[in-house]
Amino acid sequence: MENSLIFTKIIHGKIPANIVYQDKIVTAFKDIKPKAPIHILIIPNTFIKSLNEINTNNKNIITHMLYTSIQIAKKNNISEKGYRIIINCNEHAGQEINYLHMHLLGGKKLNPLN
Ligand code: 5GP
Repeated sequence: MENSLIFTKIIHGKIPANIVYQDKIVTAFKDIKPKAPIHILIIPNTFIKSLNEINTNNKNIITHMLYTSIQIAKKNNISEKGYRIIINCNEHAGQEINYLHMHLLGGKKLNPLN
């Protein structure tokens, strides 16, 4: 099974997930293997494979994903201490799921990036 289908099924409630926010444009849910006390994935409801598929027609989705992440950080009381937002793109960045997703990480002091 193409692994992007996992996220499509989560959006439509066909695979159980801990959804923390959903609107017409994005869905946010807890990562199944959290790397921090708060680890939430924010994805567009319409399939986009990776950042490389962002174009003039769909670029506003990035703003909405980012704004949603910031609101979730505030709601989880991690905004004052700080948090990290990551998007992995393709092999060198370690993108495992071929469905554009933003990681929101926080709730502890995070390791430096490499
Ligand atoms: P990537 O490495 O592609 O940037 O991140 C993919 C993330 O998706 C990983 O952190 C992984 O734990 C998470 N993930 C993979 N499969 C599932 C799943 O079925 N449910 C949830 N909630 N998260 C998943």
